[in-house]
Amino acid sequence: RVIHQNKDSEKPTVAILGSGWGAISFLKHIDSTKYNVILISPRNYFLFTPLLPSCPVGTVDEKSIMEPVVSFANKKTGDVTYYEAEATDINPTEKTVTIKSFSNINTISPNSVNVGLKANEVAQIKYDYLVSAVGAEPNTFGIPGVEEHGCFLKEIPDSKKIRNKFIEAVEKANLLPKGDPERKRLLTLVVVGGGPTGVETAGELQDYIDQDLKTFMPNIVDEIQIILIEALPVVLNMFETKLTSYAEKVLRETNIDLKTKTAVGKVESEYLIAKTKKDDGSVEETKIPYGVLVWATGNKPRSLITNLFKKIPEQNSANRGLIVDETLLVNGTNSIFAIGDNAFAKLPPTAQVAHQEAEYLAKVFSKISRIPNFHENLKISSTPQALFKENGVKPFEYVHLGALAYLGAEKAIANITYGKRSFYSGGGIFTFFVWRVLYLSMILSFRSRFKVIADWTKIAFFGRDAFKEL
Ligand code: FAD
Ligand code: NAD
Repeated sequence: RVIHQNKDSEKPTVAILGSGWGAISFLKHIDSTKYNVILISPRNYFLFTPLLPSCPVGTVDEKSIMEPVVSFANKKTGDVTYYEAEATDINPTEKTVTIKSFSNINTISPNSVNVGLKANEVAQIKYDYLVSAVGAEPNTFGIPGVEEHGCFLKEIPDSKKIRNKFIEAVEKANLLPKGDPERKRLLTLVVVGGGPTGVETAGELQDYIDQDLKTFMPNIVDEIQIILIEALPVVLNMFETKLTSYAEKVLRETNIDLKTKTAVGKVESEYLIAKTKKDDGSVEETKIPYGVLVWATGNKPRSLITNLFKKIPEQNSANRGLIVDETLLVNGTNSIFAIGDNAFAKLPPTAQVAHQEAEYLAKVFSKISRIPNFHENLKISSTPQALFKENGVKPFEYVHLGALAYLGAEKAIANITYGKRSFYSGGGIFTFFVWRVLYLSMILSFRSRFKVIADWTKIAFFGRDAFKEL
């Protein structure tokens, strides 16, 4: 067991957990000359999740939306250490994080102390402040069979899994005669969850079928059926009715079989059981055979976070994320901040929220570094909220900039706002171009932005590829 200690013990040590929207946006903005910064994440790259639904079918290449942690860390002037490791336990009393290393190469900063961790080795990192941004994990609501047979869409390996399973199912079906029920099953692709992940994934898959597979396998393409299942009466329920109705119209026109008011309750290897609420109040149970199942029903907190709920009395009642105050300090602690999907600040779990929280928190860290004795005072304060207030730290204010969703067939819906003021609300092909421009502007690095533009240009001329993993 090794304890990480920084050479410069004058500066407080900030340990950041994660390399997603919250963690990397915080890293980008924190004044690393004022703190020893340690970033811990098993994933050595940032992932631009808004374009992840474009990856399984290759509208955008997976590598185009990945940006190594090193690219961000190397731009910092101060000392940044990166551990390619998973945080397995947080001890709020001792102010330590237990980590399990994923790699033999642990530190990227030559000036830091390299504790020489090898793969799978366990160590403890001592922190003065912890910024927890480990995100969340797919929620199956305990429905049997989902983990075993379904594919999620949260990380890069998920995208590859969907692509492989889909191409494999189509290839297998192609060997069977037309009219064979097994051929029909293999060519049925079910997406469960009509939130933005489910809708965008279904739309991208349908694009691939209509625009590319049609040329590769014209004899089979008309038999492929995507079914999108949503428990609520509408899909994309964060949008206004006008836009959700438009979205449903586009999905149906592009041949997606949309089943609303339908909840999946059981999954077997080749079929699932769904229950549909009828208008007369009765419930109809259906057995739906499938070849590929994509599961996109939202997220739940990771075990690292639920374990922490139990260790802090003020968090005992938490269930969606660490309950934070208006400065994003975890209630019941003086040293742990939480941002993004692992925090519960009564805001939706989006990249937009995580990014704004991270920018805000980095500013708070800059401000408090300039206040004499603030760090010492915070350590012993029983009313940290009051201390922040007395020192002029303003509360976090979220500014909602709207929502966007791609529907397939080069159509999107968008609602662009600034807080309560709405600037644009619409759907269609023009909105699709608005969607593209705004997503490009959200990408955190120039390199990634360039690669995405190149991917879009490439498919406009040559279409998508249809390969399984090499
Ligand atoms: P994440 O970005 O998920 O990052 C979590 C990080 O923590 C990862 O690096 C992970 O490897 C790391 N980690 C996990 N466990 C540990 C551990 N034990 N120790 C250390 N590190 C750990 N939001 C939008 O606003 N707009 C969109 O268009 C949009 N599209 C999306 C599309 C998809 C397919 C998905 C899945 C999500 C989308 N979201 C979108 C939501 C958005 O991605 C999340 O809200 C956002 O990623 C949350 O940021 P985060 O930093 O909390 O978590
Ligand atoms: P979500 O929670 O937004 O949607 C999940 C959907 O699955 C819900 O509509 C729910 O009713 C449905 N569902 C749950 N259990 C079901 C069951 N058993 N059977 C059928 N339907 C069921 O999840 P998401 O789409 O993964 O999004 C997660 C977060 O990421 C959200 O905050 C979302 O806004 C954000 N996100 C945003 C974008 C975008 O802005 N374009 C894209 C993807 C994700």
